Amino acid sequence: MVSTMSKARGKSNGPSSKAYLLVVEDEKDLQDLLNYNLTREGFKVVCTDRGEQGLEIARQHPPDLVVLDLMLPGMDGLDVCRNLKSDPNTAHVPIVMLTAKGEESDVVIGLEMGADDYVTKPFSPRVLIARLKAVLRRPGAASPAEADAETKPAIRINELQIIPDRHEVRVGEETIELTATEFRLLYLLARRPGRVFTRQQIIDALHDGFAAVTDRSVDVHVVSLRRKLSDAGRHIKTVRGVGYRLEE
Ligand code: CA
Repeated sequence: MVSTMSKARGKSNGPSSKAYLLVVEDEKDLQDLLNYNLTREGFKVVCTDRGEQGLEIARQHPPDLVVLDLMLPGMDGLDVCRNLKSDPNTAHVPIVMLTAKGEESDVVIGLEMGADDYVTKPFSPRVLIARLKAVLRRPGAASPAEADAETKPAIRINELQIIPDRHEVRVGEETIELTATEFRLLYLLARRPGRVFTRQQIIDALHDGFAAVTDRSVDVHVVSLRRKLSDAGRHIKTVRGVGYRLEE
């Protein structure tokens, strides 16, 4: 079922400017709940219960964000994600996946395909909306490599301050000594607060052509980083079965 769409806007700057969301969810009750809550929040919402149809709609009117259930009849969510990310017209569209418990391996695959985030069912609409807004607020989907080439503004997250040009990290007034790898790990997470990075994505970002980084060593770097950051280390959250994210 496809609800009617009056007129899709092009690019939007954020939720306040009526972002257009495409919801692909086959559970009728959940689709209705999402439609109701997201519309009430001021989003322009289009819903479908089929992956094929979601793909079609996204190709015709690329949305500002796709809310994508992974378990769908016919074309499943991962296939929809793969298709969206491989099409230059829709590759930039952020995707937030809806998943059931126990689908962590699918979550990892989806994130590595380029999905931005996921929410595990059951979830409260308030939590989902907060996640969607966080994704919509993020500046364009710059890859870690692209971001490396840009000028690098300082990042401040509560008492934590990261000054990339000087490779400096401070917690309050105190300067923290980090290894090069720890710094890169922290900077990777901090550039996109709230975003989950899988271990593989972290390995790829940390790989410097010399030292091999493994799943296990990612965990070791995180432990060491948390310890050095002391209290501020609490911002680095473990996402069980998936990876890590930095939270404000
Ligand atoms: Ca489903």
